[in-house]
Amino acid sequence: MNDLLSLFILRSTGTNVNTNTNTTATDTDNDKISPHQQQQHSQQLVVDTSSSWDYLSLRDLYQLKCVSKATYESLEWVEYNRCRDGKDYLVPFPGYPGVLSTPSDVKFGAGLFPHQLSSLRAMHRAENHNTHFGALRGGILGDAPGLGKTITMLSLIANTAGCKPQTPKEFYDDASIAEHWKLMRTNPVFRVEILKALQPFRNNGYILQNTYDEMAIYVSPPYTDDRFPTLGSFEQYVHTTMRNRASQAQLDLFRRNVMAFKAGLDKRNRRFFNNDKGKRMLFERNLIPCSSTVVIVPDALLEHWADQIRRHVNLGVFVDPNYFDRNKYNNFHSYNGNGNGEGAGGGEVRSEERPKNGVVYIDGVGDLSTARFPLNHQQIPLPSSYDLMSYTIVVVPFSRIRQHYVAMQKRRREEETMATYRASEDASAHYNSPLLQLRWFRIVVDEGHEVGEHAAGSDVTKFINQMGAERRWVMSGTPTTGDEDSPKFTAKGLDQLQRLLLFLRRETYGTTISQFDGKNNSSWSDTALREGNKWTAKSAWDKHVKKPFLNKQEDGRKELYRVLDEVMIMHKKEDLSLPKPIFKQSQIDILVPPDIQSAIIDIVHSTAESDTITDALRKIGIAHHEQRLRPALTEGGSILFDALIDEYLRTDGFQALVDEGQANFIIDVIRKEQLALEDRGGAIIGSVNAPITAATQLEFCSKNWVDRRPFKAVVYSNSHKYLLSVAEYLYAAFDNENIAEMIEGKIEQMSYELGRFRHNFKEGKDCPICGGWNEFTGKKLASCNNRLVEVFYDGKTFLIEPERIKRAVGPAEFRSLGDRMQKIMYGSPVEMDRLDGAPLSKYNVSHLHWRVGDVLCIDTRDPHPLLRKRWSEEQWAKYGSVRCMELAAEYAFEGQDNYFGPLPVDETEVIVRLTKWQPCGRFHSRPRWDARRCKNIGWYTGPNLQDVEMREQREDTFLLLLDARLSHGLDLSFVTHMFLLEPIDDAALLEQVTSRAHRLGCTGPVTIDTLNVWHEMDSTTKGVAKKLSSSVQDETKKRTSTSVCEHCYRSFETLELAEAHELTCERNPDGNAKVDPFHLSSVYRDIRPPAPMLVGGPSDDGDKGVIQLDGVS
Ligand SMILES: [Zn+2]
Ligand SMILES: [Zn+2]
Repeated sequence: MNDLLSLFILRSTGTNVNTNTNTTATDTDNDKISPHQQQQHSQQLVVDTSSSWDYLSLRDLYQLKCVSKATYESLEWVEYNRCRDGKDYLVPFPGYPGVLSTPSDVKFGAGLFPHQLSSLRAMHRAENHNTHFGALRGGILGDAPGLGKTITMLSLIANTAGCKPQTPKEFYDDASIAEHWKLMRTNPVFRVEILKALQPFRNNGYILQNTYDEMAIYVSPPYTDDRFPTLGSFEQYVHTTMRNRASQAQLDLFRRNVMAFKAGLDKRNRRFFNNDKGKRMLFERNLIPCSSTVVIVPDALLEHWADQIRRHVNLGVFVDPNYFDRNKYNNFHSYNGNGNGEGAGGGEVRSEERPKNGVVYIDGVGDLSTARFPLNHQQIPLPSSYDLMSYTIVVVPFSRIRQHYVAMQKRRREEETMATYRASEDASAHYNSPLLQLRWFRIVVDEGHEVGEHAAGSDVTKFINQMGAERRWVMSGTPTTGDEDSPKFTAKGLDQLQRLLLFLRRETYGTTISQFDGKNNSSWSDTALREGNKWTAKSAWDKHVKKPFLNKQEDGRKELYRVLDEVMIMHKKEDLSLPKPIFKQSQIDILVPPDIQSAIIDIVHSTAESDTITDALRKIGIAHHEQRLRPALTEGGSILFDALIDEYLRTDGFQALVDEGQANFIIDVIRKEQLALEDRGGAIIGSVNAPITAATQLEFCSKNWVDRRPFKAVVYSNSHKYLLSVAEYLYAAFDNENIAEMIEGKIEQMSYELGRFRHNFKEGKDCPICGGWNEFTGKKLASCNNRLVEVFYDGKTFLIEPERIKRAVGPAEFRSLGDRMQKIMYGSPVEMDRLDGAPLSKYNVSHLHWRVGDVLCIDTRDPHPLLRKRWSEEQWAKYGSVRCMELAAEYAFEGQDNYFGPLPVDETEVIVRLTKWQPCGRFHSRPRWDARRCKNIGWYTGPNLQDVEMREQREDTFLLLLDARLSHGLDLSFVTHMFLLEPIDDAALLEQVTSRAHRLGCTGPVTIDTLNVWHEMDSTTKGVAKKLSSSVQDETKKRTSTSVCEHCYRSFETLELAEAHELTCERNPDGNAKVDPFHLSSVYRDIRPPAPMLVGGPSDDGDKGVIQLDGVS
């Protein structure tokens, strides 16, 4: 402890650390901090981080080795990261332990970027500027998309790991509580209260009941002897008694009950709690304080967070050596403190279940140290609040929040309808989200603009606003959403900002009354939400900010700027020298089918009766729109021609051609790019098996830079339907393993698919019996699922892999079999149309067309060029094949037993009869007792799937099909190409999409290729169109010449227009733009990035200045 104190003294001496400090340090070894102890130490310490002097420069820290042995050794455990530009920065104590220090990070020389360090200092200030209870501690981390907000936030979390939210002095009046406890010790009336606290242990099975009864008698007041002098001693006694008998959940509930009880003993002036802050305090003091940060993320980002933490945080630094998972494993000691050091590609032995280390919990996945990648998300409930609070980081997706909100609403309605049901009676037992039982150290909402988006508040927002926490952060590169050019943008944006302030609980513009009544802490009141100070805060905002700002009054702008400058920390992308994206406008000409063209011309030239017209319309596929076309039909000429073309272009028939054309274009580009990459020497894949991302070494494009990034393409569309249709063609051109999909919104599916795309591998097991691959998708791999086929030949019934089936025997071949029929006794040919038009050689592709008795031609070579050599009969005898054959004979080969033994012949073409098929594991089942049939079944004693290790199988997944709705916030910095299936004219949206790949960590330019479609016609039709001076066929409407502004992503019709615009573009740092000061974006623009922590830089009292961003050049 002394050494820590000396460290604090060092901090206050600022940058002048020297050996003199030696005198303040005592050389005791017993107080040094190991990383394991660090967490507990910091929990015990009241670390006063309220002032700005708690910075040391890196150089100071390195010099500390001369201070004292113990301090030096302590500091060895505290990790500091150099900024990647190598300059000396000030770092808040205790630095960012664990972040960017995984083996691969160290190997690639990772470090924070200067702008991240400056954000971190500003965030540290925002959390410690005001530290009294209820103060705004947090804000909006608004760095532009792609500037590494995740790593910044993880660094902040690491910085405070182990700290607990402070308990304000007024939280409990200990003297009053002690006094009341003294009174109640001798008062039999309090018996009821005590028993109520014990309620969770009641009626819970025979063994528990005895213990409970004994205990209940012992702890019932009045106490005539000296037992339980304090409330704490009572709680301790019950806890010790029940610890090994009751479940964790029961213990949790008991502790909550004691808290409620304690609150009841605190009889202070009600007036003290009668204001906003008091009410919230009343509510929050019944929550369990914990040192965890909960990160709430859109579903699509769960994988991203898990991946970033695993990749860039050395979890070993945070491990609590006392932690072990009580429920399942006790193998903590096998954990070597190496955190997630296995990286993605380690070849080390893995078991299916790894030890938990209790540092990061990913909802739906579990302890991160046991997680597998690609992430296997499962439908598992969130653990109890007590399990959650032992983690440093808990990551929860929006869908979970929504689910809990709905569950609680439902619960509330039930309680309301059951008038007789008294919630208080059973309050502790009913469902309450564990997320609401904790007073979190910090809440972080990623893509937090969601919180401000809906006026009425989405389910997610309503829930999040209830959660108790000391510090609150919104992460969003776009805190206000919408089209900047829209006239309503500013008004809407101001409303959104106010709702963010509400979440942050900023004084005046965002304070809200607690939605909980202090007494009945489990009741959930929406009425309180609708009424109360939420509206006071809103009207204050409207009065002092929104109205004056919209009225273009300077006061409003000043106030808005003041508030935003206080809560927002932002860097803009313009400041970083990222490789610029390359915008391409590709033209895909789709030929309108000639018969459609002539049908259109026929109608235009026709003077015929209406039923011939209907016929022609039917040919085009637009007969059902005849009514709509009526006016054009009467008009004739170019109007009719244009209308017909227009109608046709909207048909499913034409869309199918478009999908095919776009798919072919994409396939073409991919093949060309892959060849070109081979010519450049092939892709360089990082040793960690995955593409280089955000925090690894940047090799920015210099003149002689050779682009050897692995080719990774995204096909992006806002239409689910088109995406699926294009996908069909892509699947036909490439293998399934080449393509990942984020089309459906299921979280487990998304995480898994994104992981495949990112990592290029999948995990699974090879069956030791048949050699077949069994993919791991989250379910335990117990039994081989590969289908084996049982066939009959020459008196023998044996198993083959479906791959050995060369073809099914059709009627003609069947007739010519002659003598060979004798070997299979009987059987029937396979009709030529059995396989839905596919040739009989495709028989093995799907078992759906198989029938018992089919005659097949198979290849029985062993060894087979592609398949595993069979085990010998001797080997099989050891594993029980004799017993297998007994069982098979017993059922006349109609049962499930058989074995994958040697083949009876060794020929390339053998005619056999199909007798049955089933998964390999069922043929080879373990001997066991079947209670239903009262007999022994199964026989196989050799190794099966459970006995082999999981392994990785490389996959080349270079294509991701991405639905626009799921793309928000994704880190696709390793992507080299994006294909947009439809043009994006909304500049903000285009920036969003581009930022998926164009972001910190991208190691080269990303090509954004917009696939514009044009309908092409024959020259005769074109001639007709020209004669009619049709506008539909006006070639100048082709979009190939469209150009995008590099700064603001607005689209222009020609390159010239775009260039002209760029000169006055508001976001062009070298331009001469005229800016409207009363547009919200201009206020954002005025907010300066926070100053860097560079030693000798601007003074440390929160000055903001221009930040140097040379770290990335
Ligand atoms: Zn198998
Ligand atoms: Zn522009």
